[in-house]
This record gives sequence, C-alpha cells and structure tokens, in this order.
Amino acid sequence: MSKEITIYSKSNCPYCVRAKMLLESKGVTYTEINVQDHPEEKENMIRRSNGGKTFPQIVIEDLHIGGCDELYELDKFKKLDTILGLNSKKVEREHHKLVIIGSGPAGYTAAIYAGRANLKPVLFTGNEKGGQLTTTTDIENFPGFPEGINGVDLMLSMEKQAKKFETKIIFGEITKIDLSKRPFTIYVGKKVHTSDSVIVATGATARYLGIPSEREYKGRGVSACATCDGFFFKGKDVAIVGGGDTAMEEASYLTNLCNKVYLIHRRETFKASQAMQDRVKNNPKIEIIYNSTVEEILGDKVEVNQLKLRSTVNEATSTIDIAGLFVAIGHTPNTSFLDGQLSLDGNGYLLVNDNTSKTNIPGVFSCGDVIDSNYRQAITAAGSGCKAAMDAEHWLEKNR
Ligand code: FAD
Ligand code: NAP
Repeated sequence: MSKEITIYSKSNCPYCVRAKMLLESKGVTYTEINVQDHPEEKENMIRRSNGGKTFPQIVIEDLHIGGCDELYELDKFKKLDTILGLNSKKVEREHHKLVIIGSGPAGYTAAIYAGRANLKPVLFTGNEKGGQLTTTTDIENFPGFPEGINGVDLMLSMEKQAKKFETKIIFGEITKIDLSKRPFTIYVGKKVHTSDSVIVATGATARYLGIPSEREYKGRGVSACATCDGFFFKGKDVAIVGGGDTAMEEASYLTNLCNKVYLIHRRETFKASQAMQDRVKNNPKIEIIYNSTVEEILGDKVEVNQLKLRSTVNEATSTIDIAGLFVAIGHTPNTSFLDGQLSLDGNGYLLVNDNTSKTNIPGVFSCGDVIDSNYRQAITAAGSGCKAAMDAEHWLEKNR
C-alpha cells in the first residue's frame, strides 16, 4: 500500500522542486502544502517537523524526514526505497552514443550542440536539476537578456532547447562510473547505462563552514540558500558569511526581507566584483564585519539566536544577535563519483588538455565549473559545454 507523503513547500524554492523530483522519479505520489498560500499550515508544519524552519519539510506517514538534503542522503544510503516501501531488485541496461552528466549551463549547452549533431544525447540531471543558477534570483550578465532573467527561467529555457534537439533528459545522480574500458559503464540508481562517450559537466556544490554547531542548526536557522530560506526571517536580523559575489548578492537580496543583514568576512578586502561590493557597501541595511570568522552558532536547540565571532586580527571574541545564518563561502567541484579515474588539479578540479575539453581518457570530455577554478560563470560554462559537444562529435566520428 502506498505511503502517505506530505511535502511542505513555498513558491520559488529550488530545494522543494528537487525534493519533489526525487519523489517523482520513484513513482510515488505526495501531498504538497504550499505554506505561503496556506499560512494556517505553518504551525502544523513546524510541529510535524520537530521545529523545522526551512523549506521543504518532508513527512512520510508520521516519520519526519527533514529537508531536501536529508531526503537525498536517505536515497544515497539506499534507505529511502525501504521507507517508501519500494524494493524491486530488477536491473535494467541501455546503450547510448553520448552521455552528458549534469544539467547546468555546461551540460545543457553540450546537449543542444550534440543533439543538433544527431548524437541523440542522454543527459543525467543530477540532484540539482538546472544547476547552481536555480538557487539564485536575477542573472544580469547572461548575454541576450538586457533586462536580466530569473535563474530558474534561464535553466528551464535551456532544458527546453536541449529537448527540442532530441536530448533524452533523465532525472538521476550518477553514483558510480567505470571508465576503464569502452563502452563506459554508468550506474544510476538501480539502472546501468553504457556509452561510447561521456561529457562530465557536474559543476560545483556549496561549501559549509564545517563547525559542529552548523550541522546542529542546519535547517533550523543555518542555510546555504538565501533565496530559498530568506522567507522565514522576514523582519528579523540575519547574518551572511563570505566575501565573494554570492555573499554580496545574497546579502542584497536578504535586505528585501530582513530588518538587518550582517555580512561577515574573514579578511578586510572582498573577492567579489567591484560592482557587487559597491551595491553592498551602499546599502544602509547591511553592516559589514571585516576580519572575523564564525566560531559558534548559538541557539536554544530549536532556533538560532546568536553568533560567536572571532577576530582574525587579535583573536578577540564577540557576539551578535541574529535569527539566521546564510553560508556563502564558495563551492567544491563535484568529482567524487569519478573515484580518481580522471586527473584532477590540486583543488579537485578536472584537468583538460590545453584549450579543449579532452580529459586524460579518450572519449571522456569535461566542461563548466568542474574544470574551471577561475571564471566560474554561466556564460563560460555554456561556452565550454559547446566545446565539449564538438570535441565529442569529432572523436565519435574518428572512432566509429
Ligand atoms: P552547475 O550549474 O553547478 O551544474 C552542475 C550540474 O551537475 C547540476 O545539474 C548537478 O545536479 C549535476 N551533477 C553533479 N553531480 C552529479 C552526478 N554525480 N550525477 C549527475 N549529475 C550531477 N554566474 C553568472 O554568470 N551570472 C550570475 O549572475 C551568477 N549568479 C550565481 C549565483 C549563485 C548563488 C551561484 C552559486 C552561482 C552563480 N553564478 C553566476 C555562477 C554559475 O551558476 C555557474 O558558473 C554555472 O552554473 C556553472 O555551470 P555548470 O553547468 O558548470 O555547473
Ligand atoms: P568565491 O568567489 O570562491 O568566494 C568565496 C568567499 O568565501 C571568499 O571571499 C572566501 O574568503 C570565503 N570563504 C571561503 N571559505 C571560507 C571559510 N571556511 N570561512 C569563511 N570564509 C570563507 O565563491 P562565490 O562567491 O560562491 O562565487 C563563485 C563563482 O560564482 C565566482 O566566480 C563568482 O564570480 C560567480 N558568481 C557570480 C555572480 C554574478 O556575476 N552576479 C554572483 C554569484 C556568483 P577569501 O576571500 O578570504 O578567500
């Protein structure tokens, strides 16, 4: 008998979309309660999720699963199917000419080019369908959109364009890949795929501070996505940590919702572009705290109420009262599923041969943020996706 699944969500919440995609990929049905449209359900959600104050919150029967990350973690450790009551052992296989791994600007651009070259590409979205841009609001620097474009809308357009050229898009995360012999073997959930060539476009994932209290309060006041969870901190004081473009952008965004935003940075100069810095410095609702790190997140076990900071100049400690902390300290390239089969640089980015997308294994190409520790922009990712598809097409032609 199917289990009763409730997902508490809000509008414009990429993590809610991701959680729903995973449930849909399992073929289960769920009840979605949009708490923005039904504010009377807010208290019910907080009660059923043991104080959870981020979106989404997922409850299966009476079992509180947590948010999107917890749902995916259960799936990763093969526990979700059991909780959902799905336990088929059948393994299916399919062969393709080209598999693209990743659904960010790099992956979708590779798919558009490969599709037009009649390679009938198969693209695996990964857990973050649409990639990093789905966690942000307006993109003002992607050419062709003089008024700017919402990140989710941009990625949906790329998906539509890839589908137009017959890309088969499969929601799923590659857990293992065997590149030791051709055809390459790709494992996704219970299914096995083989492919003559592969494009790795797996991008990068948000980093956390790694302090113990961060894990304790993740989802209860600590978040890496201001556009998703800022909603919960309307009218409150919050902090954001980081000194790059993401921190600047999210700090500005939060001022639309919150009373005050502290921006905490470990140095006294920012890594962010000058335009983004200026926007933050000129915003009266943002107070910048330079030369400081977050030492501890303090709260009453249910909610965050304070941060303990430490000066990087004289080691002095101080506290600030806040209701939420947003972590915006960069990303780690997603290469762990490759299990060391492709060459990486010292920071874990995939290495490609000069000005091409060719990795150290013939037939395997890479593009986007996963090869780029320097530019990491949507347009550079898209450009390198084009190169990867063209390289794959030439290679397949030569190695028919
Ligand atoms: P990503 O967008 O990171 O996509 C990677 C894809 O790989 C995802 O779909 C993921 O699900 C998938 N994946 C990962 N592991 C696996 C796996 N094992 N199996 C299958 N799939 C997998 N850039 C700009 O140019 N302008 C901006 O305004 C801008 N704003 C930004 C705002 C924020 C908050 C952030 C974080 C970044 C922003 N960027 C911006 C940078 C931009 O988002 C990235 O440069 C771009 O998304 C990189 O594209 P990508 O395709 O390489 O990777
Ligand atoms: P980033 O540029 O790598 O910046 C990370 C910031 O976090 C740095 O300031 C770093 O400090 C700080 N940091 C790292 N680890 C830390 C730790 N453990 N504790 C405290 N602080 C820590 O990352 P990003 O801001 O996410 O940007 C990633 C890429 O996306 C960039 O290329 C950026 O240009 C792009 N992006 C573009 C836009 C846009 O154009 N509108 C918007 C967002 C992002 P240090 O400075 O001391 O190293």
